[in-house]
Amino acid sequence: MKKHNFSAGPSILAPEVIDNTAKAVKDLNGIGLSIMEISHRGKDFQAVIDETVALFKELLNIPQGYHVLFLGGGASMQFCMVPYNLLALKAAYLETGSWAKKAIKEAKLFGSVDVVGSSADNNFNYIPRGYMIPEDADYFHITTNNTIFGTQIKEDIDSPIPLVADMSSDIFSRPVDVSKYGIIYGGAQKNLGPAGVTFVIVREDLLGKVSRQIPTMLDYRTHIEQGSMFNPPPCLPIYVCLETLRWIKNLGGLEKMQQRNEEKAQILYDEIERNNLFEGTAEELSRSLMNVCFVMNPDYKDLEKDFLEFATERNMIGVKGHRSVGGFRASIYNAMPIDSVKALVDAMQEFEKKHA
Ligand SMILES: *Cc1c(COP(=O)(O)O)cnc(C)c1O
Repeated sequence: MKKHNFSAGPSILAPEVIDNTAKAVKDLNGIGLSIMEISHRGKDFQAVIDETVALFKELLNIPQGYHVLFLGGGASMQFCMVPYNLLALKAAYLETGSWAKKAIKEAKLFGSVDVVGSSADNNFNYIPRGYMIPEDADYFHITTNNTIFGTQIKEDIDSPIPLVADMSSDIFSRPVDVSKYGIIYGGAQKNLGPAGVTFVIVREDLLGKVSRQIPTMLDYRTHIEQGSMFNPPPCLPIYVCLETLRWIKNLGGLEKMQQRNEEKAQILYDEIERNNLFEGTAEELSRSLMNVCFVMNPDYKDLEKDFLEFATERNMIGVKGHRSVGGFRASIYNAMPIDSVKALVDAMQEFEKKHA
């Protein structure tokens, strides 16, 4: 029986995506070869990557002047690749959690870093407001969804300097005004595909402005010139992303995704608020539609392990919170069906009856 998969990442994929990928692993489009055994330069794989790029552009409404790249190394490699390519003297960063901190650490290898706002004072349970973006910095870096702490920047902010966004865990969860960003990047394994591929949406005119030498593989221009084919890209993970994008398009695109995501998150946040056994950790205005973090009400603190077991018995996995927050985290990415969210809510209600 299929489990209710609340894992933070690698995470749930739509059943159709898994079925169609299984077919392509055996025989891609009836060509008599597996997606895993064909040349990345042949016409069959070229068609896969072309359609994937085209769907990125269509679903996100990406304007002219941007390129969509598929690379290895994860979002973690982008933490250094972004400053390598863009940081001449100074960059500005918003510190909203563990991933932002890791990005800041890498940027410091390349120049000075101005942390313009931080929510470290309250264990990253909110998105800072009222900060100033310095106009003399080379770019401003944000993490739109803080996977570990369950907070999210849900609008496209205005920045006087190029805006760089780590959207690893909320890409394709809502419509985005890409024209407000210089670079958007992320690992695929949260809301798009399996581990192994990283997407980068980059505005070409930002490149070539730093004077340092950039190693070939870390230079965005290499991958733009080669259409992500400098060496074989992660072909199978790209194929899975393509199936996810087809699935999103069939469901009605990103407005529809947003609506579904809002509905799912509301059900869960409402229950956390209502249920006396639990409480949410993120400030209401900042809370994420993707990762819902909550803990036991302190009066019932010793029931934490019991609840995890209770959820596991009900065929749920991945509900344990990250060690830096504790408690619980339900990741309810695009592919999470509303029925799984309802199953979790039912479990919370049953558990309450048992212990109230
Ligand atoms: C998971 C995650 C990362 C790290 O991505 P990798 O692809 O594992 O390197 C970075 N940023 C955010 C917001 C994440 O959720």
